[in-house]
Amino acid sequence: MQANVTAPHDPPADPASRAALYMPFDNSYARDLEGMYARSSPAGSPAPRLLRLNRNLAEELGLDADEMSSAAGLAMLAGNAVPALAQPLAQAYAGHQFGGFSPQLGDGRALLLGELVDRHGRRRDIALKGSGRTPFSRRGDGRAALGPVLREYLMGEAMHALGIPTTRALAAVATGATVQRAQILPGAILTRVAASHLRVGTFEYIAARGDEVLLRRLADYAITRHDVALAGTPAPYLGLLQAVVERQASLVARWMGVGFIHGVMNTDNMTISGETIDYGPCAFMEHFDPNAVFSSIDTSGRYAYGNQPAIAQWNLARLADALLPLIDADAESAAQRAGAAVEAFAERFDFHWTSVLRLKLGLDGSSGDDRALADDYLKLMSQYRIDFTLAFARLADAAQGNDTPLRALFGGTGAALELWLKRWRERTQAVGTSQVELAAALRSANPIYIPRNHHVEAALAAAVERDNLAPFERLLRVLEHPFDEHPADISLAEPAPAELTENYRTFCGT
Ligand code: AMP
Ligand code: MG
Repeated sequence: MQANVTAPHDPPADPASRAALYMPFDNSYARDLEGMYARSSPAGSPAPRLLRLNRNLAEELGLDADEMSSAAGLAMLAGNAVPALAQPLAQAYAGHQFGGFSPQLGDGRALLLGELVDRHGRRRDIALKGSGRTPFSRRGDGRAALGPVLREYLMGEAMHALGIPTTRALAAVATGATVQRAQILPGAILTRVAASHLRVGTFEYIAARGDEVLLRRLADYAITRHDVALAGTPAPYLGLLQAVVERQASLVARWMGVGFIHGVMNTDNMTISGETIDYGPCAFMEHFDPNAVFSSIDTSGRYAYGNQPAIAQWNLARLADALLPLIDADAESAAQRAGAAVEAFAERFDFHWTSVLRLKLGLDGSSGDDRALADDYLKLMSQYRIDFTLAFARLADAAQGNDTPLRALFGGTGAALELWLKRWRERTQAVGTSQVELAAALRSANPIYIPRNHHVEAALAAAVERDNLAPFERLLRVLEHPFDEHPADISLAEPAPAELTENYRTFCGT
């Protein structure tokens, strides 16, 4: 790759639409990290159509949602016009993919337009995904198909509503062009918003080149963006590693608390910010199974549900490797200190996982055996293949004396459930909250709705095959408020037929 070259691209189809929207972009990445990107321009869309604008997020970013859905806004979201202050670039990064190292991946089909400071003073990246070839595209077409774009929109917004740190979707646009995959599909562009797009793989890219000056600049940039309190401390780079360990330990625990399986936890898909990124082959678990894996390419189960903490730690060890020269000039001491930081992941994950389980069960941590109680519930679920989401959601009714929905869910498991319920009742009563308070706490901790695979697939099929966005809109509306009851949409809370889950496979969605 050649850094900072402008790739030749077709001009936008409609030059008249170049009347670009004003957006107050800042470009700290372009400014501070020369050598870590290639300037590039979006290829444009022949017949763009706005499929969905995230109006709340637009407002949060200080943008005018009406203006964003105007012709000028669409031109930007479709890559037909670049706002005056944007400096589109493809970021360079490397990555360990399924354990093997690729020294150069980079944004092959994404462009960072720049950063906006939102209404809360937070700096957010605005990027187009599917906007055409970049110097990192290798043999790829730089494009995205409509289905995966809507999937990322839906999954990201669902995760956000579940309270889990994630990149967000600002808009989905149909390009009017087709893309060639296993079949010919409609093309689309997602506008992605992120706390930053810095990845473990971004550090690996520089470390692999042995450029310590640039590595330090990158680490300083990450600290400015995500851990500003570390600046000027005696050991800022070790501190950065520890901060990422902490964020990822918390993130993976939260994923697991909603049954989320990322599916492709390569180091280029793991952020420094602690946000979930890259909703390719991800899926939510239905019946509880620690070995659940849905991705068609994950044949060994490397990224299975229960493997996620171990993989996160493995990825963090790759970050530690990259940071070694900054942590201590003495190699042995650097390795020792970085190693301890990575080792601490296990304890930090355990802490966060226990906290997640306590919240989900309405326990307060005053009893040492909370974890045993939680683990026994998970064991029951696993043994009898009980739906993970509903097993928690229905505890709220049980807290108020109505065990019927929970009993129905556990079907013929009779005594095993009753024994566990008795222990749970004793524990929650010892906590001392009223039944009503306990039920309310459980309802705010346990979603009724997750993006169930069969509903997601049905919504995407309607959009792709019949140009019908209504099922997507309906599902999104419910997933934006996953803890509330939506009586008209209660069917969206129901598990898929078992044989469907058995055969369900996700694809990398490129
Ligand atoms: P992902 O599987 O989306 O995390 O992508 C892995 C790598 O492949 C990244 O460097 C992407 O930019 C690149 N890539 C994925 N799809 C395409 C595509 N259609 N065209 C060019 N590059 C791609
Ligand atoms: Mg990726």
